[in-house]
Amino acid sequence: MPELYIDGEWVAAAGGRHDVVNPFDASVVTTVDDADETDVDRAVRAARRAFDSGVWSDAPTRHRADLLHRVHRFLLRDKEEIARTETLDTGKTLTEARIDVDDVANCFRYFAEIADKDGGRVLDIGPDVLSRVVHHPVGVCALIAPWNYPLLQASWKVAPALAAGNTFVLKPSETTPLTTLHMIRLIAEAGAPPGVANLVLGPGATVGAAMTSHPEVDLVSFTGGLDTGRRIMAAAADGVKTIALELGGKNPNIVFADADFDAALDYALDAAFLHSGQVCSAGSRLLVEDAVHDRFVAALADRASRIRLGDGLAEGTESGPLSSAEHRAKVEEYLEIGRAEGARVACGGRRPDDPELQRGFFLLPTVFADCDRSMRVVREEIFGPVVTVERFHTEDEAVALANDTRYGLAGGLWTSEASRAQRVANRLRHGTVWINDFHPYVPQAEWGGFGRSGIGRELGPSGLHEYQESKHIYQNL
Ligand code: NAD
Repeated sequence: MPELYIDGEWVAAAGGRHDVVNPFDASVVTTVDDADETDVDRAVRAARRAFDSGVWSDAPTRHRADLLHRVHRFLLRDKEEIARTETLDTGKTLTEARIDVDDVANCFRYFAEIADKDGGRVLDIGPDVLSRVVHHPVGVCALIAPWNYPLLQASWKVAPALAAGNTFVLKPSETTPLTTLHMIRLIAEAGAPPGVANLVLGPGATVGAAMTSHPEVDLVSFTGGLDTGRRIMAAAADGVKTIALELGGKNPNIVFADADFDAALDYALDAAFLHSGQVCSAGSRLLVEDAVHDRFVAALADRASRIRLGDGLAEGTESGPLSSAEHRAKVEEYLEIGRAEGARVACGGRRPDDPELQRGFFLLPTVFADCDRSMRVVREEIFGPVVTVERFHTEDEAVALANDTRYGLAGGLWTSEASRAQRVANRLRHGTVWINDFHPYVPQAEWGGFGRSGIGRELGPSGLHEYQESKHIYQNL
């Protein structure tokens, strides 16, 4: 079946095909189409025609909300199939994939619920003036998603883009396109008019680059790595396109000595090793107060070394492989760098011995102890099952270490003292701060980063505003 969706039709790509590989055992799940620049051009022009026709951008907001509600229902209807596909594509456990699908459905429901609540603002300027601020869709959006949360990250863009009345061309990562294909089928089934939702597949360097530099694209929303973000920003500069970037993170997780030790330990494991650490908000920089440091590190290493690795589809698997052979090689380079820099390997630091895991792209969960802020493994995003541990003595030192990063996506802190919790949370320069928790997010609250973790916010009311232009209408009565 052809796999590009352009102007309301499934069409074959001009650029050939490539394998989609299961990271658990390196087997080929399927092959998919690769677009080329001519496909991108067709898709963008279809989105342009649909936008300019007003079929979607001028549709009543209630009508747009109804479509998003239908997608929400269809996602839950197909939840099991989508979750299994996501596990095959990414290696994550089925439990994680099921949570992803619920979160994707919630995202569509949230934007459906706020789509028709945005009445703009009426300003009280004076008795002879009627002044209103109203919102319009931006236009044609190029949406580019990463491989770690393929469907989830795409939904954070697609749902608000549609809710605000835009049309789009979406490109998933070339390594994990399958669940995005499913989502586009559901949007078509829900009745999106031709040209409103378009899908292209293929490599970032060609297909993604053609999207971001296309003159008919008005907005680029990208989630992925910092270096790609820089390239995309440069490509978008020529057309002065609206840009939203969700980039990487090197997220601190601070454990004060007065914290609930067991809870902090449980969550530190989850923070660092969920989806093998391939999470933009992973708690990959653990900061532990001196008084509990040694006991905490020993317990962490013990628990990390007992995480059950395996097939994400199998019952009892706690963590899957890394996403690809290339990505594992990159993480292994950091394992060497950490050793060379003097970090102590408290556990892991290599591939597993288990014969069952030799074909897949596995690495053992790794705790690097005795780290300091000069090390590359502390400063750079590794995006794998590797956590570094630094020791601190005072609250000020903890805050300074936590903020000593070019990123600023998320951070956590553990303490039983309520005033300290709020004080430290206020001082952290990160887009999300968790207190006595790690990782939860809700679609009602903004997600995004300070510093080089990105530009703009997804989710929450700001997540809708990203896809809107504001217009001031001033009438002299
Ligand atoms: P990546 O930057 O390699 O690729 C992301 C997407 O960009 C892919 O679809 C890719 O094909 C495309 N792409 C690559 N080069 C391009 C170019 N020149 N022009 C246009 N598109 C191009 O990132 P990745 O490896 O897929 O994802 C991992 C990164 O994503 C990590 O750094 C992670 O922290 C980040 N991330 C951030 C968030 C967040 O919310 N801030 C969420 C998930 C992932």
